[in-house]
Amino acid sequence: REPDISAPRPTPMMEQYIEIKAANPDSLLFYRMGDFYEMFFNDAEIASRALGITLTKRGKHLGEDIPMCGVPVHAANDYLQKLISLGHRVAVCEQTEDPAEAKKRGGKSVVRRDVVRLVTPGTLTEETLLEAGRNNFLAAIARARGVGADGGDRLAIAWIDISTGDFRLAETEPLRLGADLARIDPREILVPDSFFADEALGPFFRGLPTPVTPLPGAFFDGSTAAARLAAYFKVGTLDGLGSFTRIELSAAAAALAYVEKTQISERPPLSRPIRESEGAVMLVDAATRANLELVRTLSGERRGSLLAAIDRTVTGPGSRLLAERLASPSTDPALIDRRLDAVAFMVAEGGLRTKVREVLSAAPDLARALSRLSLNRGGPRDLAAIRFGLDAASRLVAMLSAADAELADDLADAVAALADAPRDLARELAGALADELPLLKRDGNFVRVGYDPDLDETRALRDESRQVIAGLQGAYATETEIKALKIRHNNVLGYFIEVPQQHGERLLGAEFAGRYIHRQTMAGAMRFITTELAELEAKIASAGDRSLAIELAIFDALLGHVIAASEQIRSIGAALAAIDVASALAVLAEGENYCRPHVDRSLAFAIEGGRHPVVEQALRRDGGAAFVANASDLSAPGEGDAGLIWLITGPNMAGKSTFLRQNGLIAILAQIGAFVPATSAHIGIVDRLFSRVGAADDLARGRSTFMVEMVETAAILNQATNRSLVILDEIGRGTATFDGLSIAWAAIEHLHEVNRSRGLFATHYHELTALSQRLDRLENATVRVKEWNGDVVFLHEIVPGAADRSYGIQVAKLAGLPASVVARARDVLSHLEETDRKSPAATLIDDLPLFAAAVAKQASVAPAVEDPVGPALDGLNPDEMTPREALEALYRLKAVR
Ligand code: ADP
Repeated sequence: REPDISAPRPTPMMEQYIEIKAANPDSLLFYRMGDFYEMFFNDAEIASRALGITLTKRGKHLGEDIPMCGVPVHAANDYLQKLISLGHRVAVCEQTEDPAEAKKRGGKSVVRRDVVRLVTPGTLTEETLLEAGRNNFLAAIARARGVGADGGDRLAIAWIDISTGDFRLAETEPLRLGADLARIDPREILVPDSFFADEALGPFFRGLPTPVTPLPGAFFDGSTAAARLAAYFKVGTLDGLGSFTRIELSAAAAALAYVEKTQISERPPLSRPIRESEGAVMLVDAATRANLELVRTLSGERRGSLLAAIDRTVTGPGSRLLAERLASPSTDPALIDRRLDAVAFMVAEGGLRTKVREVLSAAPDLARALSRLSLNRGGPRDLAAIRFGLDAASRLVAMLSAADAELADDLADAVAALADAPRDLARELAGALADELPLLKRDGNFVRVGYDPDLDETRALRDESRQVIAGLQGAYATETEIKALKIRHNNVLGYFIEVPQQHGERLLGAEFAGRYIHRQTMAGAMRFITTELAELEAKIASAGDRSLAIELAIFDALLGHVIAASEQIRSIGAALAAIDVASALAVLAEGENYCRPHVDRSLAFAIEGGRHPVVEQALRRDGGAAFVANASDLSAPGEGDAGLIWLITGPNMAGKSTFLRQNGLIAILAQIGAFVPATSAHIGIVDRLFSRVGAADDLARGRSTFMVEMVETAAILNQATNRSLVILDEIGRGTATFDGLSIAWAAIEHLHEVNRSRGLFATHYHELTALSQRLDRLENATVRVKEWNGDVVFLHEIVPGAADRSYGIQVAKLAGLPASVVARARDVLSHLEETDRKSPAATLIDDLPLFAAAVAKQASVAPAVEDPVGPALDGLNPDEMTPREALEALYRLKAVR
């Protein structure tokens, strides 16, 4: 569209706005005007819709109305939170000079403004924008092409939480990226913009629910990365920080550059990057996490998840640490044992533990307070948080050092960190900070009376003048004989005298000789000032200004002390979290009757009296039947290099899924260093845990659920090792019976022969139980049920053997299916069972060669052997066939064969 040249030039303010907006095109611009952040044009339209606030107009631009909306500064955090959670980014633009300065420049000068911060999901620090129990990670991903062992690509991830200072690095490979991101669970992901054009990575990143921010390649430039990192940590060379690979450096540099870009002038204090070596953590991909409901249930709630069931921590940092350990179970038996020692200590020292938790529960979030202070976003309450955190630290040192038993190593380390507290800082803060503290430092009155003589003096001056004013009201009332005379205060007039209208005129008369100066006439009242009042007011204001200035200087001095001690404060915060987690896991172990697992590098997996941690608590809460404990043993026989697979059959509702999942959860709990819901547990380190549920249970939408199931099964068969634990629940049931049975059959053979993983496989295909005759490490197990007067009673007890029948009809009857339908179903079933005995599936085990042999045959015989059934099968679409067509097709197939 042609610009409207007849339109007036934009106002100087609009010019400034347009310039700043042009520099921040991909963010909503919060433009500070007095007590509001205003948004204009498109931003205003987007924000008013997103926030449900009124859209108004302000002036014209190029002849058109300018849409505008605004949010009050004091409530800005709530609006920011909403915009960020909706995936927006916000540029916060402040006035960077006093409006009086702009006026001095004269003419049409506008107040200087600058963007002071970009708010993005991965760079939050405000308490109201964060979840106390959850890290807020920003992750950057870099890639090196074709340098992997197999000639494939290598990737590196750097992840930073600027609200706590945590900074980590790891290398990974494309196949594992999903699992790594699932455990880090970042709020925002940074990638080179070239990823979006990439064949494999493009769709992957587009499909993620997390916001992905593409950055120009220069952010990831490996050649300047080391220098950028060294500059951030103010070190000459990186050697002191540790050794990192080139792509790790480039991921780290990109993350840092983005932090600098979004924080503009401030640098959050980050801990030095910790490098996670490959294989240090158990890999658990996103589907498994979802399916085992580790931190969220399938419906997305925290309640009902494993984390919710085991979290007994009493601090935000403790809760974050527990969540982090749960996200990344260790694969190092020595580390796990140290953690278990700490839990065992706290179990044994119950009395001490209670006292420790009492102190902890009053301890504030040191890491986050420190981060806000360092970013110049902190207030008096953040200083107080440091004070009380340090207090808690010294109380815990005293308590734990006096323990009767020898401290576990992890706890001794924590106590050493706590003992390194900057003592004079704690004393200084205690002396300086008042008991009641305002949120913002500019509200003043946070410095304790008696701390600074200068401050006390100006405060006294201010308060005296206030008292004089209070006295004046009486004096004026007597002098004028107006009883209703009041002295009031507002922001426009300052202090003023107010009298009812009918007396007002008198004050202007000769009687008072110009003593009362008229300022305002209101409906029913008149307002005056006197020179006396104005002088007092000026005194109060200057004393107020002066005392605020003194308080701010004190704040800055205290802040300086805090920053100087950041490293100690951070490690104290970490130590408090570690103590919280150890005691919380002890409370859990004691309250829930868990046992200490034995974790080593074997291929054992032997659980006695295992229970499902979440279902067990839920049953108790509901006052229902007690949870039935079950043993499992998948340990590799003898000196073997492969564990067992249990194939579990049994009716629906018998407890198969519960049993499967409880074993996965026990493995995770053991490897985070927690006690486990069992009477004994011996677990050889699990390197990867996979868990899948057949399509009918899958909540995924959009894609064909069967397709999802197969994609996920493929991932397992491609990745599981003989150290992995694989849990498959009713795989194959998303398709027609024979397809499903065949796929399940082949998958088990592959797991047994190729992956050689320890596994649990629940199925309703009874035909599969025949496989145990062939596969020496496959064992059949079933859930016991009792039949009683034609009904079925679930005993939830896992026993060796195969289910004789599926009891589907009995379950249907329990569910309230009409009696006539139940009777008819029994009829149909007996007919079907008759035919089944003659069906091809029943003889599979006799006719099919073993998997390995079959694969070998296919590999050696090329081209593939003539297969008459294959082409005929290809033409069939079971989903679209009527039962009759299916039966006819089956006859035809038999005939070709
Ligand atoms: P399946 O997978 O065989 O259909 P589930 O594992 O879903 O069965 O279990 C069905 C219900 O039975 C669960 O919701 C739970 O309340 C109960 N249940 C399962 N296992 C047990 C157990 N070991 N002890 C007590 N109740 C159990």
